Amino acid sequence: MNEKEIFELFNKKKIIIAGPCAVESQEQILEIAKELKELGVDFLRGGCYKPRTNPNSFQGLEEKGLEYIIEAKRITNLPIVVELTSEKYLDKYIKDIDIIQVGARNMQNFELLKELGKTNKPILLKRGLCATYKEWKGAIEYILQGGNNKIILCERGIRTFETETRNTLDLQAVPIMKEKTKLPIIIDPSHSAGRKDIIQTMCKGAFAVGADGIIVEVHNNPSQSLCDKEQALSIGEFKNIMESLKNERYI
Ligand code: PEP
Ligand code: MN
Repeated sequence: MNEKEIFELFNKKKIIIAGPCAVESQEQILEIAKELKELGVDFLRGGCYKPRTNPNSFQGLEEKGLEYIIEAKRITNLPIVVELTSEKYLDKYIKDIDIIQVGARNMQNFELLKELGKTNKPILLKRGLCATYKEWKGAIEYILQGGNNKIILCERGIRTFETETRNTLDLQAVPIMKEKTKLPIIIDPSHSAGRKDIIQTMCKGAFAVGADGIIVEVHNNPSQSLCDKEQALSIGEFKNIMESLKNERYI
């Protein structure tokens, strides 16, 4: 999908991005992609280079993962969103990745932002774990100054003193960042909650405050997920959420 078509989609409906935290095998990503396509998802997500807090955690399939998710895109025709953790891999992303994600941990990786600014690719810029709106706006400026204005923001929860959720979802970011930047903004209830039981409610909340879409983690076998399994929805659970949102998707 080209850049223009992607942004046109944002003018028509609330965008749904779904898929596993990480690409784990060709079979895994293809099975998930086929199910999600069937459910009417707009984009498939799947991390290949994973920015893990602990170096002993699964790091992603890297280049193989990219190959597998690109193949899943070819078979299902679902455009794909993949996180880029370093500008040194950028060449591998340009041709086939539809939206390049900058993860929370890289929101202030200024060299990465500068390189992305020189491209024409849509960028999904997640808010840093502890970033203020001003700092987030600074990251946006780095991309804009390179000449790339194809930016989609993502509020994914910020760190607070609360421990019952992984992060705290800041829905106030939606109206405030929309006003400040005029850019589309989506909500990631998976990384903010870090648990499954409140994802549907937070999706509803996201749409109620005017978010332009959501990005949600879904797995074909959540208990075996190699990454973020506590928050991974099964296909069935995600299907229920999709059904509950169907009247709210079209603008
Ligand atoms: C992700 O989307 O898989 C991810 C690592 O998210 P975040 O950067 O928001 O933690
Ligand atoms: Mn994840």
